[in-house]
This record gives sequence, structure tokens and C-alpha cells, in this order.
Amino acid sequence: MVLGALFLTGANFFLVWIPVLIRQTMDEVEALSDSNYDVPDSLFQTLFSSEAGIILAENSLYLLGSVALYGVLLFATRQTLIVSSRKVEFDMRNQVLEKLMKLPQRFYAKFSSGEVYVRSTEDINKVREYYGPVIMYSINTITRAGFVITMMYLVNKELMFWALIPLPLISVFAYWITGYIHKHSTIIQEQYSVLAGQAKETFSSIRLIKAYNRIDSEQVKFERLSEGYRKKKLRLDMIESLFHPALNFLIGISLIIVIWKGGAMVIEGIITIGNIAEFLIYVAYLIWPVAALGYTTNRFQRSLASWNRIEEVLDEDVEIESSSEAQSIDLKGSIEFKNVSFKYPGSEEKVINNVSFKIEAGQNVAFVGRTGSGKTTLIQLIPRLFDPVEGTILIDGIDLKSINLDELRSLIGYVPQETFLFSDTIGENIAFGVEDASKEMIEGAAEKAQVKENILDFEKKFETILGERGITLSGGQKQRTAIARALIKNPGILIFDDSLSAVDTKTEEAILKHLRSGLSGKTTIMISHRISTIKDADIIHYLKDGSIAESGTHEELLAKNGHYTSMYNKQILEEELAEI
Ligand code: ADP
Repeated sequence: MVLGALFLTGANFFLVWIPVLIRQTMDEVEALSDSNYDVPDSLFQTLFSSEAGIILAENSLYLLGSVALYGVLLFATRQTLIVSSRKVEFDMRNQVLEKLMKLPQRFYAKFSSGEVYVRSTEDINKVREYYGPVIMYSINTITRAGFVITMMYLVNKELMFWALIPLPLISVFAYWITGYIHKHSTIIQEQYSVLAGQAKETFSSIRLIKAYNRIDSEQVKFERLSEGYRKKKLRLDMIESLFHPALNFLIGISLIIVIWKGGAMVIEGIITIGNIAEFLIYVAYLIWPVAALGYTTNRFQRSLASWNRIEEVLDEDVEIESSSEAQSIDLKGSIEFKNVSFKYPGSEEKVINNVSFKIEAGQNVAFVGRTGSGKTTLIQLIPRLFDPVEGTILIDGIDLKSINLDELRSLIGYVPQETFLFSDTIGENIAFGVEDASKEMIEGAAEKAQVKENILDFEKKFETILGERGITLSGGQKQRTAIARALIKNPGILIFDDSLSAVDTKTEEAILKHLRSGLSGKTTIMISHRISTIKDADIIHYLKDGSIAESGTHEELLAKNGHYTSMYNKQILEEELAEI
């Protein structure tokens, strides 16, 4: 950046030589024509073999040299200043992304995904503008104005004063207009987001809209938004169209002042005609830097606001990270919760309340309970998506907090309640958690999750693209793909959060059969609404309001005739009704 500043200073130095050389040429040629100069017969002679020709040739060479040096230095300026601003942007983008990935769920509860997106894209662009154009234009304004005003001063103080009068006006005008444009562009951008959001929602719910015969009303809604957008945009366009004419008007005033005042001074013999030409160019040189002053002040304010928003992300506490003494473990797979309590950030109520239990390595344990009883929250504490507010969780007798976080998570295969599949091939979706998964590994995992046959039915098999650009899987297929994703990691601990809810009972039976035989020795934790899924578990915990209310095997729990039994009876009844 320092180098860039030096180049730019140099560029401006050579730039002010141009009007000086023009003045010199004009004055010399004029002096020649005033003397009893023998005018050559032809233009050719004038240019190449006369006294005037020599003056012109000499000055032209100097001019060429100045223009060339100016050009080279300007190129060097951009190659240093703008390139380094791009490097700042690159570093910052990576830094922000790295931070965002590590930030706790609490952060994502505070900021919407849209806001996070804006911070890692738009805001970074605005800060880059500070390091690039803002700094460049500021140095340009300072150095150019410095050189030009010095030259003006050396020529004539009074004319300098007159020529500079309208310039502050240009600056203030540029500040005002860029501010206005920015403010309204933001409003328009927001309006556009609403419009685009509405269109997106319409298309994703197009079947519903047709089925409910809502086409006309949707159309009216869209037109109203579209009309609002058009009006705002036209208004902004009008202001933008005013910018150049108004700027030219102010420039025109400056030039007129120079010609009027300067002309009078030439007549009085204070300055030469060449000086007027020189001054006119000086004024033209100052216009853009002076307008840029207004523009950069505005940009600077915006960059600062963006920087504050980025800083908010960078200063955010990561909370969940490996401790400095993190150790690696040779996993056997026992898990113990000791008096664990948890509440979500910003909420007073304990979602998990003093829960203690132990799972032996290789056991198959299930959690059941009503919706909202805290099952999902409880199991999310194991891969440390959240940390408990009280109590400790141990794996193989070691506190989770002293285990290397990356290693801990690589030991756990977690199938969340909501399946998320990327807009990528099914194969890549399954291979998500492992580096360089082989074809055999992907197919093996798909087979174990009972989804291979479905995949082979697709024309492109494992290369079938999912999501917006591809096909949509059924709920059950999605869940089984997610299970394959967890199985391919071959983790020591598997956690299924209601991961078979959309799978039919026959397929469920097949998956469970595999899990029982193929996963023997692995610790498995299952959450389910369906008793059929978990009835064979080694221990079933019934969760009520964040506490374990009942524990035991299926038979033991039925014998207790408590919450579990009533849940079971209800399900039997529902099944019977469904059959009828
Ligand atoms: P379950 O899995 O048994 O249905 P959850 O663990 O999902 O229950 O939810 C337990 C309680 O925690 C519910 O009352 C739910 O509203 C609340 N809860 C879940 N997620 C959050 C969150 N991110 N922030 C605040 N409260 C939450």
C-alpha cells in the first residue's frame, strides 16, 4: 500500500507537467509569431524544418514522456493498491468463514442465515472498498490537489482563488448525491429481496396455489410489490440522471470564471494566454478528485458500518472448542451423563433437568417421550453441539471437554431429525463425512441403510443429482440416505434422532436387523416415536419435562404400568384403528 501511495504521488507529479508543457509551448509559439517571424510556405516546413517546428517537436517529446510516465505509474498504482485490497478481502473472507463455522448454535439463533450471508459477502465487499478505492481516491485527491494548487499558486494567486471557488460546492454536492443514491439503493435492494422472495415462494408452492385456485390473488400480490419496486427505482434513476448534468454545470461555472477572470488578466498583461490554457486543465484535473472527496467520505462511512458488523462476528465467543490440554481417546464407547442440566441461551427454563444415566460400550439405548420433552436437546450434547450448563458428560470416563473436538465428532455418527441433503449427487451426499470415500464404501453404506436398491433404480444410480437441480427423494429415502451418511463413517457411537419415522415398518425392520447384527459392539442411541423401533433396546429411558421419568427394558417398563405403558397402549390402539 505504501508503494501504491508512492506510485500515485509520482503519477500526479507527471500529470501536472502536462499543462505546464502546454503553457510553455503556447507561450513560445505565440512569442515567435509576435516577432518578425518568417512564416514558412507549407505546413510541412513549419513542422519539420523551422524554428517553430523545433519548439513543437521538443515540447511534444516532453509531453509524450510525461503522459507515458503518468500512465505507467497509474498502472503500477492499481496493481499495488487495488491488488492488495483484493488480498485483504481474500484473507478476511476466509477468516470470517472459519470463524462462522466454529461459532456456537447460540450465534445462529441470534442471527438469521440471511444476515450471516450478508456479513460474509456484502459487508466484506464494502470493507474491501475501503482498502481499495477509498484509500486510492483519498491519496489521489491529496497529492493531485497538492501539486495542482501549488502550480496555480506559482502562476497567479488571485486566479487560483477564483478558480477554486466552485470546487467545495462540487464536493458537497457529490457527498449529498452519493449518500442519497446509497440510501435509496439499499431501500430498493430490500424491496427487490421482498419481490424475489415472493416469486420464490410462489414457485415453490405452485402446486398449492393452483390447487387452491389462488393464481389471481397471487398475481395481484406480486403486481403490487412489483409496482412499488418500479416507482422507487424510477425515482433513483431520476436522481442519478441529474448527477452528471449538475456536475457539468458546476464544472462549467469554474471554467467560465477562469476564462473571464483570466482573460481580463491577460489583457492587463499579468498572465499569458498559455496560463489560461494551463488553468483550464488544472481545473479539469481537480474536478474528479474533489467529487471523489464526497464519494469517498460516504464510502468510508459505509465501510466503517460494515467493518463493525464483521467485527461483531470476529469478536463473538467460540465457546465450544478443544481445550488446550485436549487429549485423544481410544474409543470403547461408554457414555455417562452426571447430573446434567441444560437451558437454551436466552431462555430461563431448564430443558434438561439434572439427568444422570450410563450407557455401557456397545449398548443399544433408546429415549422416548412426548414431543418437547428434551430428547433431541439431550443427544445434541454428546457431539457438543451445545455444552451443558451444569453437570458433566463423560465418554469412556473422560470429560467431553477434555477430548479433542474434531476427534470426538469423528467418532460419532449423528443422524439428525431433519434430513439435509446437498444439491449434489447421492454418492457425494452419502460420502459427506469422510475424505476420499471409495465407491465400495458408498455402496456398502447404502446397502446397510436399505437405500441401495432405490438408488440403483435411478437412471444415473449413485450419480443422480438431488435437490433443486435434480430429483426429490421421498421422505423415507431421504432418511435412509442420511443413515447411510452416518454409517459410512463407521463411527463407534451412532445416534439416530427419530431417523426412521418416514420409513415403512417393513424397511424399518430390515434396517434394524442390520443395525443389530452389523453394529454389534457399537454404542447406539435412538430416539423414536414408534415403540416398534426401540422395543428391543437394552435400556429405554422415558423422558418427561427434561428428566428421566422411567427406565428399563421394554418388558420392565410395561410391567411398571406408567408413562411408557400408556404410550404403548395408545400406539397399539392407533394401529388397530388404522387397520380397521
Ligand atoms: P424433543 O426432541 O423431545 O421433541 P426438543 O429437545 O426438541 O424435544 O425440545 C425441548 C424443548 O426445548 C422444547 O420446549 C423446545 O421448544 C425447546 N427448544 C428446542 N430447541 C430450541 C432452541 N434452539 N432454542 C430455544 N428453545 C429450544
